[in-house]
Amino acid sequence: MAAVIDGNRIAQDVRAEVKAQAIDLKEKKGITPGLAVILVGEDAASKIYVGRKEKAAAEAGFLSREYRLPAETTEDRLREIVAGLNASPEIHGILVQLPLPKQINPDVVIETIDPRKDVDGFHPVNVGGLFTGRPGHRACTPLGVIELLDRSGIAIEGKEAVIVGRSNIVGKPLALMLLNRHATVTICHTRTKDLGAVARRADILVAAAGKAEMVRGDMVKEGAVVIDVGINRKPDGKLVGDVAFAEAAEKASYITPVPGGVGPMTIAMLLRNTLNSAKAD
Ligand code: NAD
Repeated sequence: MAAVIDGNRIAQDVRAEVKAQAIDLKEKKGITPGLAVILVGEDAASKIYVGRKEKAAAEAGFLSREYRLPAETTEDRLREIVAGLNASPEIHGILVQLPLPKQINPDVVIETIDPRKDVDGFHPVNVGGLFTGRPGHRACTPLGVIELLDRSGIAIEGKEAVIVGRSNIVGKPLALMLLNRHATVTICHTRTKDLGAVARRADILVAAAGKAEMVRGDMVKEGAVVIDVGINRKPDGKLVGDVAFAEAAEKASYITPVPGGVGPMTIAMLLRNTLNSAKAD
């Protein structure tokens, strides 16, 4: 039976460290990390995420600025607000919650954010930094996966890592992060032939497909580490990951649950990115 990686506990540890360092930064340099969170429109899930981010920032002793804009906000108006935050000395991190309403091109908005304040790690300068191994902000969810592995004492170097999913926010950046840590990395997607055979090669198997319980027990190699990024709501309201947990846990050495695995790490890493941004001020 696999050991269950407690993402809630690890995220709490990271958040406590961030808070302590934020207090230290305030005492020594008089700087309070500032995070601006922008929500456009009424998307229900986005409202929940934004609320959690604001609360976590306040709990860490950060300055938290909230912008809740109507769904009909124009791209120009949003860019104006971002430009104002770029120039604001008290703001170190700017987060524009995605998805945006259809009249706004998310790429244009992300490119407006000063890369030093792009704590989501989505700006092309930061993505390029990840690609070439230069410093910069890294996307929070894949960063959270790396942190879970590190804090669970799981070595990455030399391991065969397989990621199911190639999105710009999870699969692709995670592949680069694992590669930078010297794993041998394979990325799978909807057109991968014989997903099971590829997945069974993995020492570290990451599911980030957004398909409820698609990774079955027979896709997991004996002793593999299984990381489940997926968050899916079943018709009965129950939250499940992309991994059939009970089946996979019989084969895996370590496994993350849903909820309480990767999920809580995303906000913890957002806080850490914002702290790092304030430290570099
Ligand atoms: P996405 O829809 O943008 O990408 C999914 C990827 O999975 C695609 O590249 C697709 O090719 C691949 N895929 C889908 N079905 C597949 C299949 N049957 N076989 C092989 N590959 C398949 O999704 P995303 O934004 O990367 O998110 C993935 C999951 O992670 C979602 O459940 C999402 O809710 C969750 N998520 C969680 C967090 C968090 O924990 N904080 C953050 C971001 C995303």
